Amino acid sequence: KVRVRFAPSPTGALHIGGVRTALYNYLFARQHGGQLVFRIEDTDSNRFVPGAEEYIIESFKWLGIQFDEGVSFGGDKGPYRQSERRDIYKKYVKQLLDGGSAYIAFDTPQELEAKRAEIQNFQYDCHTRQQMRNSLTMSAEEVQALIAEGKQYVVRFKVEPGQEILVNDMIRGEVHVKSDIVDDKVLYKSADELPTYHLANIVDDHLMEISHVIRGEEWLPSAPLHVMLYRAFGWEDTMPRFAHLPLLLKPDGKGKLSKRDGDRLGFPVFPLEWHDPKTGEVSSGYRESGYFPEAVINFLALLGWNPGTEQEMFTLDELVKLFDITKCSKAGARFAYEKGIWFNHEYILKKSNEEIASLFEPICREHGVSDSSERILQVVTMMKDRVSFVKELWPLCSFFFEAPTAYDEKTAKKRWKADSVQQLTELIDVLEGIDDFSLENQEKIVHEWIEQKEYKLGNIMNAWRLTLVGEGKGPGMFDISAFLGKEETIARMKKAIE
Ligand code: GLU
Repeated sequence: KVRVRFAPSPTGALHIGGVRTALYNYLFARQHGGQLVFRIEDTDSNRFVPGAEEYIIESFKWLGIQFDEGVSFGGDKGPYRQSERRDIYKKYVKQLLDGGSAYIAFDTPQELEAKRAEIQNFQYDCHTRQQMRNSLTMSAEEVQALIAEGKQYVVRFKVEPGQEILVNDMIRGEVHVKSDIVDDKVLYKSADELPTYHLANIVDDHLMEISHVIRGEEWLPSAPLHVMLYRAFGWEDTMPRFAHLPLLLKPDGKGKLSKRDGDRLGFPVFPLEWHDPKTGEVSSGYRESGYFPEAVINFLALLGWNPGTEQEMFTLDELVKLFDITKCSKAGARFAYEKGIWFNHEYILKKSNEEIASLFEPICREHGVSDSSERILQVVTMMKDRVSFVKELWPLCSFFFEAPTAYDEKTAKKRWKADSVQQLTELIDVLEGIDDFSLENQEKIVHEWIEQKEYKLGNIMNAWRLTLVGEGKGPGMFDISAFLGKEETIARMKKAIE
């Protein structure tokens, strides 16, 4: 039975790489009819950031990634917040101590510091633990006396040297590591009576019956330790399978994409805008920047995986069908954010004109537009293929609703000819005489007039455009005049040539 989990630490805004990890877990769970668990790994109280958990939940709600179990979703394997599972972990720490797979260490930070100064690249491991103050080098009485005295201690994993550790990774294949190079990681700290990430993570994955651990590549170095922990607990038979996802790289491919890269390089790295409660700093988010959640999902899905075909547009359901964890790349994926913009544009095209109009209408109203919803829809129908974000519509379309108050000088210099005023005055007369102001009819009559007068079509259209738009942009001239209607068209022309 497939059970996967997304297990963020609430240390700040959810990084976009974390969103991709959650997405791949989601796709894997859905395609196997399994469950996706949401666990909060908050055993490091120093790094806890208030609001982060709520932020993460809100992010997934916006993205449409649904969890089956976990913090805020319920379930019968909880609590799903690690800080509420202290007593559970204590029992398992004791099990490791009793079984001789872990030991108590009393070294103070100063002693460890001194050791680091003395030995280059000091590692607390099977080679150095004999030199330290711990239950392997002290008598049982001494250890008990120190604990009774209230001395703080940590519990470390006792790595057995000379072992070959095999991590079987669904993406990377078999990774072999010699146990000698793995350090005796701290599993538990008496000071806060909390386990570290490693212990809590293994215990919870076991108790929550996780079948597959799908997470970022940065956890690959921890995997051998995790395998040894499963062994030490005697849980090898139910050990989850691992998949370490490729890193997300900076757009230029040079180094890992960091939280700071986003606004520095001009794109969001967070799903939602984030207000850092400690620094007061605000970081931009995909939602507030005007991205559609479908576009973000589609973009992220292809960072580290592809279906092996030319297809790029996928709904979440299609991704569930096609995604293949074993086909993820081992190499890091460049975070080509322009592609995210391209996806958003494609979703603007894909979505109905009505849906885009419903998003554009409030923006129009904010600008005081009183035209009907129907007219706003007409504008969207003409213009939506030109933008990547709904918010880009207003600067492009405001002239449909507001007469120009100024005329772009550059355009005027180029497009306004010596005889423009005279020709437009004649054109006003022609337009005055048209009863059926439909696009087709206007076009026919105006073209006939131009032909008969042997005027230059381009000159007339360019000058006319300037009077209606104020610039050289916009869709076809007759689209504009038909939309504005006879009265408004003529009023704008008169004002311009006055
Ligand atoms: N709490 C870890 C994180 O923040 C989870 C790592 C894992 O999935 O094992 O990424």
